[in-house]
Amino acid sequence: MSNLDRQPTPAVCGGRGFVVAEPVRELLTPRNVKLGTSTEVRRLLPNLGRRMVGAWCFVDHYGPEDIEGADGMQVAPHPHQGLQTVSWLHDGEVLHRDSLGSLATIRPRELGLMTSGRAISHSEQSPRGHGRYLHGAQLWVALPDSHRKVEPHFQHHARLPHVTAPGLTATVILGTLDGATSPGTAYTPIVGADLVLAADAEARLPLEPDFEYAVLAMSGEAEVDGVALLPGSMLYLGCGRTELPLRAISDAGLMLLGGEPFEEELIMWWNFIGRSQEDIEEARRDWMEGTRFGEVKGYEGAPIPAPALPPVALKPRGRTR
Ligand code: MN
Repeated sequence: MSNLDRQPTPAVCGGRGFVVAEPVRELLTPRNVKLGTSTEVRRLLPNLGRRMVGAWCFVDHYGPEDIEGADGMQVAPHPHQGLQTVSWLHDGEVLHRDSLGSLATIRPRELGLMTSGRAISHSEQSPRGHGRYLHGAQLWVALPDSHRKVEPHFQHHARLPHVTAPGLTATVILGTLDGATSPGTAYTPIVGADLVLAADAEARLPLEPDFEYAVLAMSGEAEVDGVALLPGSMLYLGCGRTELPLRAISDAGLMLLGGEPFEEELIMWWNFIGRSQEDIEEARRDWMEGTRFGEVKGYEGAPIPAPALPPVALKPRGRTR
């Protein structure tokens, strides 16, 4: 999905200053953002008080939305650089096309992983004849400096490894959880997992003490480390944990996001991640001039123009909490 905000605010992300070294329970409230004419999403990252969790730098939760007889998601071609996008559905389907010629229909609990590297563009749409409901999350992963200009590539993994315990099924989206590793390519130590809990289930997930973590609530009602979470909210958990207690009040769906704290400072603006004002200006110019980001063939309609850059300079400015 694209950041469709017409006046996107630059976010300065990364750096050790944001990271909480010990276990905490910090509830993040979402900002409601309108995408196009209908869909409303709840944006959890970047958040006023928290920009990243490991390399995870963008988290939108959308739906469940009844799109019967409607177009559903219609996001025209737009560019990305310096990041990976993860499409994750609990209901419905998304048709992905990109400038490499990829064409894929992503279904619930399948991984659509697009590595933009230096440049890519893509569109995302509810296909014709789509299902009644659309429910999912759109996540971005920042690429480290060593790999931020890799050749763009797209991966679709319909089968992902699972970890199970009584009342819990965890699907490993990215990285490794409890010895099970996703086939998705990761460029930093990271984990993403989808957690399905049956009502009344209690479980303890093994964690890496060097990682920071957060849990996004997708559906139902569950307690994470004793904190009750409702859908569309996210709990930041800090670092220094070896396990995470979970308890389901009802059948519940959660996403675990974690990783080694991302130490490089970066600038995120619109759909780009860069390391300097010049990086962002160049990306915007290249997209508007039709160079570098390629063309999404097969999409009917015009690409999304870049918004105007803010008048003030974008520069990493260290930490603000
Ligand atoms: Mn996108």
